[in-house]
Amino acid sequence: MALRVCRFGCASVKKINREDSLKKHFGILIFILWLAPSVRALEQKSLSEKLGEDYLSGQISRTLYLAYHLIAAENPEKLPAAYRNCPITHDICSTLRGGEARAHLDSASGAEKSLLAAALSRPDVSRLPLRLISPKGNFCLHFTTAGSDSATEAFVAEAARTFDYVYDLLIHEMGYHPPPDDLGGGGTPQLDVYIMQFSLYGETRFEQSVPGSNGQRYTSFIIIDNDFFGSAFKTQGVDALHVTAAHEFFHMVQGGYRYFPSTSMDSRFLFEASSVWFEEVAFDEVNDYLQYVQTFLNYPSNPFHVFSNTTYGLGLYMIMLEKRHHRNTIRRIWQGLYDQEPLPAWNAALAHDGEQIGLSLAHFAVWNGFTAGHADTVKFYPEADLYPPLTTKEKAVFMSTLVIEGNASELVTQYYCIEVPMGGVLQITPSLKRPADWMYSVAVYDPAKSDSYKITAGNGRQIVGPLSPGSELQLAITNISWPTFSYARNAQSFTFTLSAAFEQPSAEEGIYALSPAPFVPARDQFMQIQFILASAEETVTLYILSENGRKLIERELHGLPPGANCYFWDGRDANGLIVPSGIYLCHLRSDNKSWPLRKFAVMQ
Ligand SMILES: [Zn+2]
Repeated sequence: MALRVCRFGCASVKKINREDSLKKHFGILIFILWLAPSVRALEQKSLSEKLGEDYLSGQISRTLYLAYHLIAAENPEKLPAAYRNCPITHDICSTLRGGEARAHLDSASGAEKSLLAAALSRPDVSRLPLRLISPKGNFCLHFTTAGSDSATEAFVAEAARTFDYVYDLLIHEMGYHPPPDDLGGGGTPQLDVYIMQFSLYGETRFEQSVPGSNGQRYTSFIIIDNDFFGSAFKTQGVDALHVTAAHEFFHMVQGGYRYFPSTSMDSRFLFEASSVWFEEVAFDEVNDYLQYVQTFLNYPSNPFHVFSNTTYGLGLYMIMLEKRHHRNTIRRIWQGLYDQEPLPAWNAALAHDGEQIGLSLAHFAVWNGFTAGHADTVKFYPEADLYPPLTTKEKAVFMSTLVIEGNASELVTQYYCIEVPMGGVLQITPSLKRPADWMYSVAVYDPAKSDSYKITAGNGRQIVGPLSPGSELQLAITNISWPTFSYARNAQSFTFTLSAAFEQPSAEEGIYALSPAPFVPARDQFMQIQFILASAEETVTLYILSENGRKLIERELHGLPPGANCYFWDGRDANGLIVPSGIYLCHLRSDNKSWPLRKFAVMQ
């Protein structure tokens, strides 16, 4: 799959050669042309666009496509003549493309393989002959003070201190495993950072499989730009150095958990979401990530798990996880990736906190509704007042009845903005063929009250209001079913009817669905336990019991909203073993309530 260059504010031209002012001004001219849509058609194609087109039309192989991207970042003068003068667009972080190139190396052959291998190798020692060991001894920085790659000694010293700082924070304070030893790569026992004129912020380049890891873990080195000055950088100078060091060092650590091409489901979204989040953890005062937030909030309905130009904005999701759960929840996702695919690893980390992906995505949709003018920095994102509003798919006006029809594929959320000029009480009634595949949330913006929200599963009805005249709702509908592979798109339709409500819903509490039935753990992965609560509950304890009442698991679920809720059970008992075929019981209890037992069957 071609990686798309971000076109929303971060694609631009970096200096081609600082020594050559003519070329530099030509670059700026192209940048200005790019900014003007009316003359965009006249503009020369960017290198990324040209390579993408030539690859798709079969003029160049995937090997060359990847190799030329790598060569462009470090040695643009070595590109074939046809590409040499194409302006180099600015990728956010080229780690993922480099990783794809590394994975591609085995299947490449002949001269193309040699070219790709050379492009993936470490920068030439003769180009960066000087070395500085970081004060704490974790890193060796390779640099030069001559020519176009030159970096000032102050810059190199700051880089050394910064890498030590992010190392201490992530490894010693936050408890991640140190990156794999690079086996003496670069001729030093330390981890290596190369500082050179690089047409991107930085890259963590995966180098070799950690012995005994079967290609699941990789050593790496880091390349960063030599000054972070130029029109390409949204954030410049030392600020850019800081967030780039945080971002790329986390990639280096991630390579020690799971090299992304080694999962069968695409795991790149976890790489970028985590690295962007860590920029904020390490350097809260530098807000380079706002560019990604904007892209995401403009296009919030891409499948969560499929890598695209909005993936970087999923750093927001990690910011939510840290605040709703704990910083360690994100580390548990990475630990899970050691031996699990991305979705089970992610789900297991949430399950540790009594939650699962579906409910987590419903909360994420709510948080995305409280930005800009609706920001609540205490309850939701701490910097939500700096974010733009979410671009909702459709705006509609509710008078007496409103029917919303749409569709969504796996892990997609569709957002609607509904104006309620008259106010009143609304009833939202979903009509869903497979209710277990859905969750929806309603964020309520009432001019006379503080903002609020509700989350509901499946076909559960929701009563909203009474609303003051002039209220607005954000209805977010999430398909929570799991894709069978990364790019599977199985769009399912939904219908939601909004009507004026005169009655409260009958609150039949307790478990209302256990699906699928029977539950076959090897086939289904999870059984959904759906239940209704008449009121919000601080803590509900869920038990799975054998038919004769022996306790197999006990899970505390926290902070549950009224209405329908859902828990995913993976078929394992407290010892982590899949339970044998048989009849089982599910039971729910809170401090002051106990709901009826439900029977279900497990088959192997
Ligand atoms: Zn990255």
